[in-house]
Amino acid sequence: MRVLGSTEEGVGASAPLLTARAVGWSIDGQRILEPLDLDLQEGECLAVIGPNGAGKTTLLRLLAGLLEPTDGRLAWRAAAYADLSRREMARRVAYVPQVRPANLPLTVEQMVLLGRYPHLSPWQMSPGAADLERVDHALTTVGLEALRRRPVDTLSGGERQSVFIAAALAQEAEVLLLDEPTTHLDARHQLEVTRLLGSVRRSGRHSIVLTTHELNLAAKLADRVIALRDGLVAATGPPSEVLRPDPLGEIFDAPFSVVTEGDRSHVVLRLER
Ligand code: ADP
Ligand code: MG
Repeated sequence: MRVLGSTEEGVGASAPLLTARAVGWSIDGQRILEPLDLDLQEGECLAVIGPNGAGKTTLLRLLAGLLEPTDGRLAWRAAAYADLSRREMARRVAYVPQVRPANLPLTVEQMVLLGRYPHLSPWQMSPGAADLERVDHALTTVGLEALRRRPVDTLSGGERQSVFIAAALAQEAEVLLLDEPTTHLDARHQLEVTRLLGSVRRSGRHSIVLTTHELNLAAKLADRVIALRDGLVAATGPPSEVLRPDPLGEIFDAPFSVVTEGDRSHVVLRLER
């Protein structure tokens, strides 16, 4: 078990938003995620990397409260997850899954409005002016006002990704959990979504945990990287330490180089003959 976060690194005296203590997950006697400790601080961005099947999505779903840990416990500040209702969780944590249902019969603004549902009171039949204002604000933030009446199904992959991020922003959850937010996007849309996440991060209003295969996205956005391999924490630390040829080679079983241009470094996979 590894201790990840402030306890180990001695940074930040404030209480973390999320804490995981010895949290693991097994199914049918098979361990998918070995018990790990994790702290997420306010405003922090954490990137989870690792090969396919390493346990990244499982970790994110545990943090979202969608999967119950088979080991350990999760807490939101001092409150155990088990004591929070789904609604209470949804006001705190927004989860954007990687695989999303096709054929969504909703327009962009209807989809983003779904993010407001955890905030409606139980007797409230429809959203109020404040909810619609949050939707407008989220659409402006992601640059989708012009597409608000378009069916989500008719959007490009990058636009659709932005709609889901807008719904998470409208939810006003402090923590955003994003599963592979740039996967399946072409280069330009990857850049757009990366820029969008950069501005969300700089707003300081959200903590972010994202999983990604885009190591340079992790390098650009993350304060801290956790590398999983076979359900175990293989490496953790700031991007400058983890996103180097040495740990990466072992984690992915593939050769990496670091290319430096001025004051910027990029990680590249070496395709050897
Ligand atoms: P990643 O997101 O890193 O690709 P996942 O967390 O999705 O990995 O999955 C980790 C491993 O756990 C995979 O081998 C996957 O097949 C397995 N797994 C995940 N969920 C289940 C489940 N409900 N039942 C059985 N195996 C599962
Ligand atoms: Mg996954």
